[in-house]
Amino acid sequence: MGPAGHTLAGLTVYYGACICSGRTPTVTGSAAAALLAVSPDFDLLTAVWVGFPAANRYHHSYTHTFAFAMAAGMGTLVIHRLVRGAFRWQAGVLGFLIVSGHLLTDFFTRDTGYPYGQMLFWPLSDRYLLGPVVFLDIAKPSWSGLLDMHNLKATIHELLLFTPVVSWMAFHLHVKTRTKMLESAG
Ligand SMILES: [Zn+2]
Repeated sequence: MGPAGHTLAGLTVYYGACICSGRTPTVTGSAAAALLAVSPDFDLLTAVWVGFPAANRYHHSYTHTFAFAMAAGMGTLVIHRLVRGAFRWQAGVLGFLIVSGHLLTDFFTRDTGYPYGQMLFWPLSDRYLLGPVVFLDIAKPSWSGLLDMHNLKATIHELLLFTPVVSWMAFHLHVKTRTKMLESAG
């Protein structure tokens, strides 16, 4: 899955948590959710040094594990404590869930580059795991090759799947916030 799908999947988790907890989403929270949602793919930055397709050797390894999701959750907890000055374990759980959402969607994404799948349970196991295909892959043959028709099609597919869900959640939260404001105004 590409950055558009991962970002929208992260927002789905964040807005879902807001709906369940009765909290109002914030711009900072949405930006943090989007950043967390794409963070496992920062392993592709190795392409800056080794180029494509060699970077695929390092992709889907250490940052695509539940251990990384736990570390991201801990990081979210610490940053929330430093920024907001309050300890909220829910922030850590949310960080873990958003990164796990990335792993889950990648698990159901077509993978045509070796190694296939993700090293989900490292350090307990080095095995790469891959599920049935639901989402299209993003081909990474070269820097210029990132902008090809296949990747455009994959991105449109992701937008068609997630945009209605995220839009409905955002609308639902907006109505709830407006209703709360009107009730408190008397
Ligand atoms: Zn990924």
